[in-house]
Parts: sequence; C-alpha cells; structure tokens
Amino acid sequence: MRKEIAVIAAAALASFLASFLIAAVLLPSLTGGRITTVTTTLSVTSPQTEDEYLKSTETLLRRVVEWVEDFRGLELREEVEVIALTRSWVVEHWGKGFLNRTEVEIDEVLLKSLLMVPRDFNLTRFRIGFSGYTVAASSDHRIYVVREYFDPRNELRAGATLAHELTHVLQGEYFSTPKPSTSDEEAAIAALIEGDANLVSSTYLLEHGGKPFRMRESELTPLDALPFFPYIYGEPFVRYVYERRGWDGVNEMYENPPTSTAQVLHPEKYLEGWKPVKPDLPSPPGEGWRLLLRDTLGEYFVRQLIRAHLDSAAANRSAEGWLGDRVEIYEKDGLYLVRWKLVWEDGRELSEFLGAFEQVLEDAGARRSGEDLWSLEGERIRVQRVSENALLITIHFEANG
Ligand SMILES: [Zn+2]
Repeated sequence: MRKEIAVIAAAALASFLASFLIAAVLLPSLTGGRITTVTTTLSVTSPQTEDEYLKSTETLLRRVVEWVEDFRGLELREEVEVIALTRSWVVEHWGKGFLNRTEVEIDEVLLKSLLMVPRDFNLTRFRIGFSGYTVAASSDHRIYVVREYFDPRNELRAGATLAHELTHVLQGEYFSTPKPSTSDEEAAIAALIEGDANLVSSTYLLEHGGKPFRMRESELTPLDALPFFPYIYGEPFVRYVYERRGWDGVNEMYENPPTSTAQVLHPEKYLEGWKPVKPDLPSPPGEGWRLLLRDTLGEYFVRQLIRAHLDSAAANRSAEGWLGDRVEIYEKDGLYLVRWKLVWEDGRELSEFLGAFEQVLEDAGARRSGEDLWSLEGERIRVQRVSENALLITIHFEANG
C-alpha cells in the first residue's frame, strides 16, 4: 500500500468537491466495484474553447492566490502555471503509469489473506479506476485541472479547488516531510498535507458563502475508505492543532509529522507526544521463503479490516487501544506466509480486538479447527496470544486456493 497511495493521494481529488466525487466514488461500491462506468454522467455543461477555459481559470487563480497567501500567512515565491488535462489522460498516465504492479500484487495478497476482499478481486483495476476521480493536482509550480470535473465558471467550487492546490504549492516551497517507512506513517503524513490544504479550502468556501463538504468514513466501503484517509481525517486533525497553536503550530508539524494514523485519529495523543511501539516478529521462517513485504498497517487499517465484516461501532471500538503492529509477507512456490503481530495498550484492549477478529473469521466462513487455528479454502490462520497485550496472527495462504 505504499507508493501508489502517495502518488494518488498527492494528485487526488479534494474532498470539498465531493458532491461530485462522493457520487463517483460511492456508486461503484453500490454497483459492485465497477468504477469506470459512473463518470460518464459527469461532464461540463457547455463547451468552452481551450483558450477560454484556461483564461477564466487563470483569472480566478489570481484572486485565489491573494486570498490563500493572506489566510495561510505564506507568500508564493514563484509564479504558478495552470495546465488543463482530461480524465482519460489522467487515467492513462497517472493511473496506469504510476502503478507499481509488483506492490499492488503484494497488497492484494495482504487484503485477500486478511479476508478484506473476495478471492476474485482485482486490486490493479481498482487502483487504476481510482485515478479517474482526480479533479486537480499540483507539482512544483504547476496546477493541473481536469476538464471534466473542474469548471472555472463555477467560481465557488473551482476557487476552493485552486485554494487546495495552492496550499500544496506553498507546502512545496516552505516545508519538507521525512520519507515514510511504513504504510501507517505514509497515511499519517498525507493526512497532515491534505488536512492543511482542506482546512484552507473549507475556509475559502465558508468565507465565500459556500458550504464545505465532509466526506465520511461510514459512507465509504472499507476499501475506498483506506486511500481516502487523508481526506476524511486530515482536516479535523490539522484543525485541532490550528485551533490550539495557530498556523505556527501547523507549520511546526512538518518538522515533526505524525507517524501513525492513531495520532491523526486521536490528535490529543499527537500533542501529548504519544508514539506507537514497533513490535518484533519471530525469526524468519527458514530456507526458501522470500520476504515480499515488511510494514506497519496501523489503527485505521485495523478498523477497515473489522468494518469489512462488522459494523462501524464495533470496528472503532476494537481498533482503539492499538499500540503498534508489524506485518511480514513471505512467498515460497506460490504459497504465501503472512505474519502479523499486534500490540495493544492492555489485555482488555487486546481481548476486544480478538473477539471482533474471531467474528470476522466466522463471518468470512472460516471454521475453527483447533484452539487457536482456523481454516477456510486455501487458507490456514493461527491466532495466538503471545503475551498479556500482544497477538500474533500467522496465515498460510494460497493465492489460487
Ligand atoms: Zn490535495
């Protein structure tokens, strides 16, 4: 789940446009994951020539630049250039072009072995479809807008999109963030970046008579909710810090960004200096096994894992109290070995997760075949309590089982 989320998240749609996008994102969930068909109904009302389109975008941009500089308290150091793209171009070049197929295949093994998606699910297709919801993006001093979604004549919405992207340009000029080493850390840093941009664009909307749109986790499928984490929880997180410490406090976060989705979900933990633990896994499984992935999945991932089978309240409750996790995936002759150690704040929190996870296994059709052993077609799962507050999940998984 590492790189492609970063690319898509950086380039992805801004949540305030979600009245367009939420439909575009939610509909595929309702129609069985076929993302590509939905957007045909979304198109710009009447055609503008390329020239008119760019000219009105640039006029609007100049006004928004002034507002953003004033509100965010940072001045642009260089001119910003606008480039118009089409949706199909974005899917072709960013959706397909940026996709690391090997990583997607490994992520697919993880999601399938943890019973979050069905055996016949195709993650590559899902990720490429996702790129089709990009409204605008930025890189250095360029802002890209997608013609099917971005209409400069709708000044309120288009202005908010530009405010979001201009915040990204400012972030590039003034701040840098460390390279994340886990998926959990990557989602947390993205939440800071997107949350900052969304706080600016929400305020722009409010000050210009609009109403910010809130994307909600409960309205997304667990699989959609994963890449949308920065857009759902970034803004409340950044707002929490902004209201207590102002923009200086937000700016300082770039030097010491959150390292875990748990800090974003519980901003008070971040401000208290709380940090997750990094559990050790047992020694490697022996000869012939090839390590494919070593990662930390985080509280938010745990939540989606549970939510794929149980309700949101159960998911939130059982993911809370997460203190750290470590996952490894090995491969040998088409057989995968997944080892996932989870550490909880105390034994009670562990039991809460364990109870929910056993319900997930039952819901997925797994049968208990021993005290801590479960099996279903092509898969054996061992769930061991290795200490008062740590759990080790070991899965043998055949991709074609
Ligand atoms: Zn953004």
